[in-house]
Order: sequence, then structure tokens, then C-alpha cells
Amino acid sequence: MAGLSTERQTEVKERLLARKQRLWLEVKQQLKSSIGDGYQEMLATARDEEDQASVSLLAETQLSLLGPKRLELEAIEEALLRLENGSYGECENCGQPIEPRRLEIMPETPLCRNCQQLREKLAKATAR
Ligand SMILES: [Zn+2]
Repeated sequence: MAGLSTERQTEVKERLLARKQRLWLEVKQQLKSSIGDGYQEMLATARDEEDQASVSLLAETQLSLLGPKRLELEAIEEALLRLENGSYGECENCGQPIEPRRLEIMPETPLCRNCQQLREKLAKATAR
């Protein structure tokens, strides 16, 4: 664990879970307003984690619509996994500790600032 106290870990976990919940709500609302009546009932009954699996399946079909939120949800899931297995706070690319300030702003980020910038540069270069 990259220098993260148990207290800090709990705090991060709570923040991630809260963010995840909010995103799920937004995703559900977005799906509700964008797809037909048939799904609305199903979404309305999706209240707990298990039901979210079916919503998640639905979300698969709405990739383009949910793109950014879905990516963020995935990033959050991965960050929670990293908290579990103790690799949280390490850059997934170079293995260096991620700047604490950066984690403060984006607790779900898997990359340090350098690697993020590098990746963005690469993305821009290949987008052309
Ligand atoms: Zn890095």
C-alpha cells in the first residue's frame, strides 16, 4: 500500500462508494428518459446491488449514450478493487505512488500525473 493509512483508505472507499451511487442514479435516470416504456418498469424495480446487474446489462446496450459515466463507473470499480488488494495509490502504468493531491481530486484515477499526461498526448496524436 502506497503510504495510505487505514483511516485514509476508509475515507477514500466511502467517497468512491458515494460517487458510485450517485452515478448509478444518474445512469438510471438517463436510461429512463432515453428508452421505451418497457424498460422503465424494470429500472424502477432495480433497487439493490443485485438488480443493478440487470441495469448494467441494459447499460451495455446504451454504450454511446452512457459513455463517460460508464467509464467513470468502471474506473471507480477498479479503484475499489485496488483498495481491496492493496495496490491503491500506485500508478497502474509506472508503479510510482500517485500524487496525494491528485488522489484527493480524483480518487478513482489509476494513473499518476505524468502517465496521464502522456496518455492524453498519445490519445490526441492518434485521434488525428
Ligand atoms: Zn505513472
